[in-house]
Amino acid sequence: MFLNTDSKYIWLNGEFSAWDETKVHMLTHTLHYGMGVFEGVRAYSSSDHHGNIFRLQDHTERLFSAANKIDLKIPFSKDQINSAQIETLLKNNLTEGYIRPIVFLGNESMGLRAKDLSVNVAIACWEWPSYMDPEKKEQGIDIIKSPYNQYENPLYSNNKIIGTYINSIMALQDALRKGADEALLLDKHGNISEGSGENLFIVKNGSLLTPNTDYCLNGITRQSVFEIADSMKLEICESILNIDDLINADEAFFTGTAVEVMPIRSIDNNIIGIGKRGPITEALQTKYSQIVRGEDKHFSHWLTEIN
Ligand code: PMP
Repeated sequence: MFLNTDSKYIWLNGEFSAWDETKVHMLTHTLHYGMGVFEGVRAYSSSDHHGNIFRLQDHTERLFSAANKIDLKIPFSKDQINSAQIETLLKNNLTEGYIRPIVFLGNESMGLRAKDLSVNVAIACWEWPSYMDPEKKEQGIDIIKSPYNQYENPLYSNNKIIGTYINSIMALQDALRKGADEALLLDKHGNISEGSGENLFIVKNGSLLTPNTDYCLNGITRQSVFEIADSMKLEICESILNIDDLINADEAFFTGTAVEVMPIRSIDNNIIGIGKRGPITEALQTKYSQIVRGEDKHFSHWLTEIN
């Protein structure tokens, strides 16, 4: 059994199969070489008990764009992949949860020179209320500078390509081993790139600063924070940031579909700001959670109703 979940079905190439019985072959090409793409999407219940998927279209666009960049032709339209995500939630009786679409190559032949492989798509979803300890949403997390650098090639840092995630996992495991909650990866120049699965923001003198996307994923939560900050009349700018900028920040936080808006309490044991969630981080966190739950009509265009 996988996770502690009530989910019962997985969508695979247009059909549902039982959660425990959805199979891929041992020689599935992507299992061996990591050639594939994926997404991480969330659905949230709204106060009227409907569910909505947050920024579904944007996630699907990013999935197709990443697939395109590594020459995978997804054999479904974007509309079909959108509908399939809604159907998978419905089939599993979920109005709230995490959705994982994955595009992978089949097992028709083997080796690096394999060609004419089938392109397959699976969608799973499950309840996943919190990616990290929920108390950290207020306390903040402790992070450390990773010995693993972000990829130099933007193809690998800007896209959710399966094989590239070994770098994030190595960085995260190193951080966890050292007693931290998350890793901070630097780029080849020694500037801040991102977390293992999150974008980083700092707050300095009331303004938000975040690295540009030369060496990090242009996260959808990151993009949302740009618009939310704008609506709150906060200044926001992309900038080269180093570790000293982070140590001397008033506040710092990570963003990501999984972590949402997560305050950072310390970097390499240096306390940042007041050493817990700061007021701007809290305001953004609150606004984000209102938006995803459909409580802010100004941003309702980001929600796709599950029905
Ligand atoms: N960076 C990396 C490496 C990630 O894996 C993620 C999670 N997709 C993010 C940043 C945050 O992206 P998003 O806000 O789109 O989830």
